[in-house]
Amino acid sequence: MKSKTSKSGTLAVWGGEAEGFPDGAVTPPITSSVAFAHHDIDQWHRVAIGESKGHIYSRNTNPTVAVLEEKIRLLEDAEHATSFATGMGAISSTLFALLTPGKRVVSIKDTYGGTSKIFLEFLPPYGVNITLCETANHEQLEAEISRGCDLVYLETPTNPTLKIVDLKRLATAAHKVGATVVVDNTFATPINQNPLKLGADLVIHSATKFLCGHSDAMGGILCGKRELVDKVFRFREINGASLQADPAYMIARGMKTLELRIERQNASALKIAHFLKAHPKVSDVFYPGLPTHTGHDIAKNQMTGFGGVMSFSLKGDYDMVKKFLPRLKLVHLAASLGSVSTLAGPPRTTSHVELSDEQRKHLGIPESLIRYSVGIENVEDLMEDLEQGLKSV
Ligand SMILES: *Cc1c(COP(=O)(O)O)cnc(C)c1O
Repeated sequence: MKSKTSKSGTLAVWGGEAEGFPDGAVTPPITSSVAFAHHDIDQWHRVAIGESKGHIYSRNTNPTVAVLEEKIRLLEDAEHATSFATGMGAISSTLFALLTPGKRVVSIKDTYGGTSKIFLEFLPPYGVNITLCETANHEQLEAEISRGCDLVYLETPTNPTLKIVDLKRLATAAHKVGATVVVDNTFATPINQNPLKLGADLVIHSATKFLCGHSDAMGGILCGKRELVDKVFRFREINGASLQADPAYMIARGMKTLELRIERQNASALKIAHFLKAHPKVSDVFYPGLPTHTGHDIAKNQMTGFGGVMSFSLKGDYDMVKKFLPRLKLVHLAASLGSVSTLAGPPRTTSHVELSDEQRKHLGIPESLIRYSVGIENVEDLMEDLEQGLKSV
């Protein structure tokens, strides 16, 4: 495992807040104002054309939102960052801003469900060519990239079977053909993985998940090379997928404990993965921290922790899953992930509900698979809960 020398814990607290706020406030004010007044008309014009710092209208920029953007920019060590109303707002704005007819994208089959829909349904009518490769097949990915492409879109670890792709290797291949590399870093968070350091040009987060951490606000972030982020920002100003001050405040507040939460969730998930792996009623556990996981060696190289999400399958069918899950007490049976409370559900009803049985099988998603996002509860309590649940089926 790579060692962590950065000051993530400090940046998560102080990032975007170091200069302080009016009246000595020790937390960022929630600036709900839609518009910002300027008494000097020349100054107003300078702000409007980006020559002077300041705000005009909250669809473009907002001071509370700027605090959050700066926090994540520092954690990813990026040149620039901009935000969106949701993670999908970030992903769709990025793809639609950077791609034009005739461009070619190489990506993987296991992207987030919404992203996959953009590739399969919404981009092709605009004449964008999409090639989706087997997620962990690096030879196939390299071959498709080297045929020539404009954008390489990656995600690691993936949903729901936590496949790992080698970011450095694929970024190198992409840059040889002049392609832009975009990585969805939602599952890893900036605490466990920094794609820009591994060669990516842009990083996307659904801030709804671990960054917020409390399942009570939605947001998305894009950070990376200034010129590229600016291009997407100029599109977002117009398409209107802008983040509002209230959720920005909630996410920035949640992020102050990001490192604490992730360290806890990394440790608990690893322990639970080993526990499940040894359990007679569990047939398989997908977690990159397990030495038996196919992506373990790559994960060990490019991550500083293996994250809080895993999935496992039961020795039984879907009916067994339907009996087992409601018996768990310390878990919300709900979509989403990355919260302080443990969340679980079958991909069959959540992230991959729109796929047929055949398609799920093709993606290597067993019928009895359960995605389990570990919260910050006491890990012994969580294992006891799983044990009693498994005993009862
Ligand atoms: C949830 C999620 C998204 C979408 O984010 P929203 O905030 O729900 O729009 C994108 N990518 C990954 C990996 C996710 O888990």
